Amino acid sequence: MIQKPKGTYDVFGDYGKKVLYLEMLFQSLIEKYNYEFLRTPIFEATELFHRGVGETTDIVSKETYDFLDRGERKMTLRPEGTAGIVRSFIENKMYGNPSMPVKTWYYGPMFRYERPQAGRYREFYQLGVEVFGTDDPLMDAEVISIAVNFYKLLGLKDVKVRINSLGDSESRSNYREALLAYFKPHLDKLCSDCNERYGKNPLRILDCKVDHDLDIMKNAPKMSDYLSNESINHFEQVKDYLDANGISYIVDDTLVRGLDYYTNTVFEVEADIPGFGANSVLCAGGRYNHLVENIGGPSTPGVGFALGMERLINVLEASNISLNIENGIDLYVIPMNEIVKSYAFDVTNKLRMSGFKVELDYMNRNLKSNFKQADRLSTKFVAIIGEDEMANDYITIKNNITKEEDKIDTAYLVNYLDEKIGQEDYHEECTCGDDCNCDGSHNHDCGCNHH
Ligand code: ATP
Ligand code: MG
Repeated sequence: MIQKPKGTYDVFGDYGKKVLYLEMLFQSLIEKYNYEFLRTPIFEATELFHRGVGETTDIVSKETYDFLDRGERKMTLRPEGTAGIVRSFIENKMYGNPSMPVKTWYYGPMFRYERPQAGRYREFYQLGVEVFGTDDPLMDAEVISIAVNFYKLLGLKDVKVRINSLGDSESRSNYREALLAYFKPHLDKLCSDCNERYGKNPLRILDCKVDHDLDIMKNAPKMSDYLSNESINHFEQVKDYLDANGISYIVDDTLVRGLDYYTNTVFEVEADIPGFGANSVLCAGGRYNHLVENIGGPSTPGVGFALGMERLINVLEASNISLNIENGIDLYVIPMNEIVKSYAFDVTNKLRMSGFKVELDYMNRNLKSNFKQADRLSTKFVAIIGEDEMANDYITIKNNITKEEDKIDTAYLVNYLDEKIGQEDYHEECTCGDDCNCDGSHNHDCGCNHH
């Protein structure tokens, strides 16, 4: 049997419901911040990622899916979202937009040839934001707050925000010199990758997963000692804005991040759950003030983050957080025989078009097994349609919870269901724990921590 490629997975059943719910929740949150959706191709010219992500990063040096298309063009399945969005920002001349900043969000699959393990796949999904056109630390804080608020909405309490500043070009080049001098006598103790990083981008050495625990790593010069006054000032303001939003964070001067393009602020949001290891990093991002220029656009500052869908679902499961997903249906329609089937199909169609979630018997079950099926589907009502109903334009409808039965003129069916479903408390209770008495749906704002 042909099996799925290593490191990929199929989405179905309850997992599929969770994915859709989380996508919708993120979408409804990001709309409140007035971000616009931006979708870029899943493959791009290979060169984009070499320039955009950086030659010395793990992603570009060993994780990309590269191929030649039939026209012999070098293509790469996108390993991350930022480079493509920056390309799109430039190509669509969004820098000419008079109402800066340009605030965008995205969602989609990313591809990296990694060793698959818990929370690490070869095809995985990221939700993210990218903002262009402002260097204001307020925007760094807004971007961090979006990720934090998303986790908060979900009721995830055990998350930790770690932030650091990588400084501007001037700070980075001073720091680079310091690292070169520091690591020079220790090169024989570092792994071969780090020896290569030494020549190309010594900052990467600090992000090495192999050499991470060596003492020489712990004693390495700290970025914070090399920040310019401007960078220090920027970082202080980001922290002040986070404080003003009640967002707690830890300043972690070992945080470097795996991508080459960051300047000043970098951050990660981590699940604070014992035993999650490297997969506990849920979200990562930062500021990239030279990326637009590197990819060929006019100098434009940018800031953004990407968060992993799979790791989020893992952490929600580990924290026993159940999502407020409606599982039941409104109505289950039972046609009593072949003759009434097309009439039942028509009634079903009209109800679906009026906004009800309706299921029909396609299996020609007998009445008893139809009622069993109705229970399996957790339906609120069951409609029984026989020849008498069809001839006289009414429906026999049974409340599947109270078992009360009514005969309703077909023309009033929509009103009937509207009234019954609206009035009775069929919704699950909100799980926010705030005693808010709402039904946990996201289309109103009762102020509890679900909205
Ligand atoms: P890691 O250090 O775990 O490899 P990274 O620095 O490569 O992460 P980013 O490129 O910053 O990660 O991606 C942001 C987020 O995307 C991560 O925090 C994680 O949630 C998710 N992510 C990254 N790689 C994978 C993967 N292979 N499978 C699943 N999720 C991933
Ligand atoms: Mg990685």
